[in-house]
Amino acid sequence: MPSGKTHDRVNLVSTAAIGIAGYYYGFDLFEILAFCSGSIVATFWFSPDLDLRYSRPVKRWGKLSFIWWPYSLVIPHRGISHIPIVGIITRFGYIFLIFSLLWFLITGALYNTGLSPPTLKPSLLFNNPYIWPFLLGVLFADTLHIILDWLWTSLKRQMKPRRRR
Ligand SMILES: [Zn+2]
Repeated sequence: MPSGKTHDRVNLVSTAAIGIAGYYYGFDLFEILAFCSGSIVATFWFSPDLDLRYSRPVKRWGKLSFIWWPYSLVIPHRGISHIPIVGIITRFGYIFLIFSLLWFLITGALYNTGLSPPTLKPSLLFNNPYIWPFLLGVLFADTLHIILDWLWTSLKRQMKPRRRR
């Protein structure tokens, strides 16, 4: 597979190219920014390579990188995490589960001390018009990573010397 650095570079250059093209074709600047942000977040923090324990994207989580260890343990490298759309759903679902658990613990602790926890409004997120270009950017970066992995593997297979009969 290509190195993490190669993935980062290819994704960044392609994101910039699409951003410039979008601007040139008169797309809304904030929509373009939302798309680029989605792509960058997906490239650096939600890459399919979170299925590798010591990958760059895992390390980028810093002190929180342990969150991804169970994920990389259960999901084989280049398995479900490397399936377009499905992979990113597993990763977003996984992080949602972790944070829900944390939220549950925090609110429980607050209730026990007699404090009332703040209310979350997820509708605010989904009523935001920029969530769609953001998600499109996420999908773009994710699919690009997977395509690059596929291309790399098939190229390597072709380069391998064939056995003579
Ligand atoms: Zn990969």
